[in-house]
Amino acid sequence: MAAKNSKAPEAQAGMQRVVAEARKAREARLKGYREQSLRIHPWICARCGREFSGKNLRMLTVHHKDHNHDNNPPDGSNWENLCLYCHDNEHSRYIDHVEGANDTAPEEDPEALTHSPFAALAHLLKKKPD
Ligand SMILES: [Zn+2]
Ligand SMILES: [Zn+2]
Repeated sequence: MAAKNSKAPEAQAGMQRVVAEARKAREARLKGYREQSLRIHPWICARCGREFSGKNLRMLTVHHKDHNHDNNPPDGSNWENLCLYCHDNEHSRYIDHVEGANDTAPEEDPEALTHSPFAALAHLLKKKPD
């Protein structure tokens, strides 16, 4: 049990470690939903049924069903495992839909029907692809 006299360098190293840990935790939180979804749902694309395993798992992405990345219920009900291609397809379909290229009735929030340009902007900002 040797007593340590020089505390300063240690404190600095500790500080750097804390910063690094915090950054890591933030990154983990940002991509955490993917891991969670992969834990809850089978490693199969929900569209084309392609199966994934350790090697090609990075091709399997997590889609937010309501396109709201802030909506991450822990039961996984807003997540869908999609392969890169189907995910891409899903988003381009959605964009077509928003732009009105599609004649099906909009079933999403009534916010889009208001005439406020700010509401429309807020609405658009929420729809960034991942
Ligand atoms: Zn697919
Ligand atoms: Zn998506």
